[in-house]
Amino acid sequence: ARDEITYFGAGPASLPTTVLQNASSAILNFQNTGLGLAEHSHRSALSHGILASTESSLRTLLSIPEDYTVLFMQGGGTTQFSAVVYNLLGYWARMDYVVTGGWSQKGSEEARRLFGEEKVNVVTDSRKVFGRYCGIEEEKGWKRTEGEERVFTYYCDNETVDGVEFPGFPRSLEGGVVVADMSSNILSRRVDVSKFHVIFAGAQKNIGITGLTIVVLKSSILQIQPTPGTLRALGLPVPPVMMSYPSLAKHNSLYNTLPIFDVWIAGEVMKELVAAGGLAKQEEVANRKAERLYAALGRAPGIFKVVPLEGARSRMNICVRAHPAELEGVFLRGAEERGLLGLKGHRSVGGIRISNYNSITEASVDKLVQYIDEFVQKNA
Ligand code: PMP
Repeated sequence: ARDEITYFGAGPASLPTTVLQNASSAILNFQNTGLGLAEHSHRSALSHGILASTESSLRTLLSIPEDYTVLFMQGGGTTQFSAVVYNLLGYWARMDYVVTGGWSQKGSEEARRLFGEEKVNVVTDSRKVFGRYCGIEEEKGWKRTEGEERVFTYYCDNETVDGVEFPGFPRSLEGGVVVADMSSNILSRRVDVSKFHVIFAGAQKNIGITGLTIVVLKSSILQIQPTPGTLRALGLPVPPVMMSYPSLAKHNSLYNTLPIFDVWIAGEVMKELVAAGGLAKQEEVANRKAERLYAALGRAPGIFKVVPLEGARSRMNICVRAHPAELEGVFLRGAEERGLLGLKGHRSVGGIRISNYNSITEASVDKLVQYIDEFVQKNA
């Protein structure tokens, strides 16, 4: 039964049970309309209301400034790898990629695939600096594009697979044009949105269910977007309409059929976060949960080795290896027996990964900590 398990998976992630309970009746008969929410027109007044209220909760949580636009899109974080470059390259001439893990690497690869090697500069590549994605190079070592004003910088705030998270906004990017992938740490701490031109996040970790992607962008981007004619004259591709930020903004995210059910779920999750004290509270809770987990792992340095270096360790995805390696399977099986699920590391890196999103309660973390301590006692 649901109350006997805790799911620590990296995404899709677990959602608050209350939200799912309401969702199960909403999908059958929404607010006594006789029609399930997924059957209602995305252009109905009801759907407009859901969009407006979800956007309003997001604006409250992130304190989004007036001159920023919120878009609800589809296609996940991966679609944004392409959308970002289609929309920004044209006005901006070069792209600086900060590669600190598998997801920023994929973002940079897509930029290169769409626009060619010469447009993409890799500012830092943790794999080259540390041998693998386990840290963030000191900013003074970063090789940013020089002699070109129209550059935007892209980074991934939290690398879900590698467990590497920026402790804060990179100082050297202050005042620049910055794009951030916050798919796996959005709504887990306060963010100064005004420092970014674009923030995007797939919903399926800290916001809601798969199928919805949230984009927060500086509205001025919508005005400076070159026309298709200008882009063609520059030899640049014209963005497909579903990736064009101006097209979506003009239609209030309803250029095509948006999954309103997904938007509603995100809205319900966010309403709970607002009621619980907003992001200051989430930040405090997330920090406390992460500290407890790292502390438990740190009590057994002979058995558990946290993969990322101190200073770059994610509060959201805690990546660890057990020694000897056979213990990993033993750990995972024992966890499963206790209803602690989803702890296997990403297939590309292996090991153990504890995803610590907002829906993971402190009580669940305590259960896992207790298991870690018992496991250590038994295997020390
Ligand atoms: N960025 C990050 C940081 C992610 O964690 C993920 C997915 N785990 C993605 C992008 C890709 O997202 P999607 O599967 O929604 O395309």
